[in-house]
Amino acid sequence: PSPDYDKNNIFAKILRGEIPSVRVYEDEHTIAFMDVMPQAPGHVLVIPREGSRNLLDADPAVLSRTIPVVQKLANAVKEAFEADGVFIAQFNEPAAGQTVFHLHFHVIPRHEGAGLKP
Ligand code: 5GP
Repeated sequence: PSPDYDKNNIFAKILRGEIPSVRVYEDEHTIAFMDVMPQAPGHVLVIPREGSRNLLDADPAVLSRTIPVVQKLANAVKEAFEADGVFIAQFNEPAAGQTVFHLHFHVIPRHEGAGLKP
């Protein structure tokens, strides 16, 4: 893990199974689970198992394994929620809106006419 990483953050606890989550995907390097306060139905979070605080300190090799999973989940939620598009978001540091300090990608289905803001 990166030196800036706190292994007691909530997503680390989800990874260890210490708090429950609704997992919708997992492989050797990556998991995806439903966001507990979804901005729209089908809001999924994709996280690498490897600990980094956010994108800024992440190992590029980890990113290269994570992005294909973001793509996979984007297609999956688009189909499952009959969405017209998919919004991907990712925040780094509190000033940018980050609240959980384990790298994660938001994958959010979008419907025509629903507006761009959550
Ligand atoms: P961010 O750090 O990018 O602002 O967002 C963190 C996201 O994690 C939020 O969308 C929030 O709803 C979600 N979240 C926070 N705590 C939990 C939790 O315990 N379980 C799940 N599934 N999601 C959480």
